[in-house]
Amino acid sequence: MTSDIQSENQPVDVNLKLPNNYQTVGIIGAGPAGLATAIALRKQGIEVHIYEQAKAFRPIGAGVTLSPNGISSLAALDADIVQQLKQQGSQLNRFRIRTTRGWPILNQPVKDNEYDQPFLAIRWFSIQETMRAKLPPESLHLNHQLIHFEQTQQGVNLTFENGETATVDLLIGADGIRSVVRKQLFGLEDPVYGGWMTWRGVQKYQHRLLPPHHTTIFAKRGKSLILLDNGQGYVSWALEMATPTVVRSQNPESAKAQVLQEVSKWHPALQELINLTDANTIVERTVCAPLILSKWSDNRVTLVGDAAHPMAPFLGQGTNTTFEDVWALSTSLSQQDNLEAAIDQYETSRIERAQTIQYRTMFSAAQMRNPLLRPQWFKTPLGEVPAQAKVSEKAFSDWLYQYDPSAQT
Ligand SMILES: Cc1cc2nc3c(=O)[nH]c(=O)nc-3n(C[C@H](O)[C@H](O)[C@H](O)COP(=O)(O)OP(=O)(O)OC[C@H]3O[C@@H](n4cnc5c(N)ncnc54)[C@H](O)[C@@H]3O)c2cc1C
Repeated sequence: MTSDIQSENQPVDVNLKLPNNYQTVGIIGAGPAGLATAIALRKQGIEVHIYEQAKAFRPIGAGVTLSPNGISSLAALDADIVQQLKQQGSQLNRFRIRTTRGWPILNQPVKDNEYDQPFLAIRWFSIQETMRAKLPPESLHLNHQLIHFEQTQQGVNLTFENGETATVDLLIGADGIRSVVRKQLFGLEDPVYGGWMTWRGVQKYQHRLLPPHHTTIFAKRGKSLILLDNGQGYVSWALEMATPTVVRSQNPESAKAQVLQEVSKWHPALQELINLTDANTIVERTVCAPLILSKWSDNRVTLVGDAAHPMAPFLGQGTNTTFEDVWALSTSLSQQDNLEAAIDQYETSRIERAQTIQYRTMFSAAQMRNPLLRPQWFKTPLGEVPAQAKVSEKAFSDWLYQYDPSAQT
């Protein structure tokens, strides 16, 4: 849904002397957005506290493809992180599509020679651990679920579910697709169900159908299993399935049973891979319809990552656009001497591009149901599709992946 945003907060003085007079920045969420933001701001000498609702960091069964635009942005933030991720992950060089029984449909090289960075498949947990190691433990507060914030002339007062409170000068909502910060900031409901379910897992596995450095999609209309070599012997899998109703498995074993049921007539290697996967690490998620925001900030509070631009996973851009956001936000805060100007620069450099990617992701979802659909014909009741979201696949890929973070600010 497209949202006309109205602030629920009273206006406060944003004529703060920033960034040098920052005392503290509070970040809600220790996903890729929160961790990257903390690393970037600490490099500017800013005191940062991340508040995360989880009680512990544990390996989540998901793999991610970092694409050239995301890697360039992350490298601008911290080149050493990218170097470490390249050692752990797998640079993709071939893209295949097969039928559910394994017969080849498409086999082509990954075309990354026109871009500054490769396509890198890596375990989500590796990204989280590599970034977390860059932060002092005292800046990370687990078991801190934000339930409320209040903006005052002096700062932003935070209240957590565990009864603790804190006051920060700037609050950054990096709390994901169902962001509490976004909800309170703009009074918006969570994004609605988008008609797709996903299940994801990671497992050490070898099979001739899943060679190193390959992405392979086993697909039929409305259902596909995406397999990525994640490096170090790991294969990540993601089942994406169109379904009108939300599936809520009662426990990890029933989620695994559901996936096995969905692929029961597919190639035996796929069933074996899922069978081997520890049910407790399988991630079951609904895919939400995009929520397209025209504004990401209000006074001393702003958003990054999925909180700012929830999108379906079909273009693999959630984490990648998140790293673009973080670079833009941290650069704006370092270049401007008051918060209002910094936020203005951040939103100007980000919102239009993020919206374009959200619309193109919607097109990808529509095309998964109807492979004959072409981008120039794409319409959505959400609003007018930006021209850049309707260009050919090659033109869109070039625009997306040739992103130069240093040219944006
Ligand atoms: C099937 C699937 C495949 C995907 N594949 C890719 C891919 O290949 N490439 C890609 O770029 N992206 C991919 N994505 C998207 C990617 O996972 C997200 O875009 C990315 O994780 C967003 O990072 P984030 O930090 O904004 O949010 P999250 O990763 O959701 O992190 C938010 C954090 O905030 C915490 N939190 C939430 N609420 C509170 C609260 N009230 N108080 C405190 N903490 C809170 C959460 O516990 C969580 O740790 C995929 C997603 C799915 C579902």
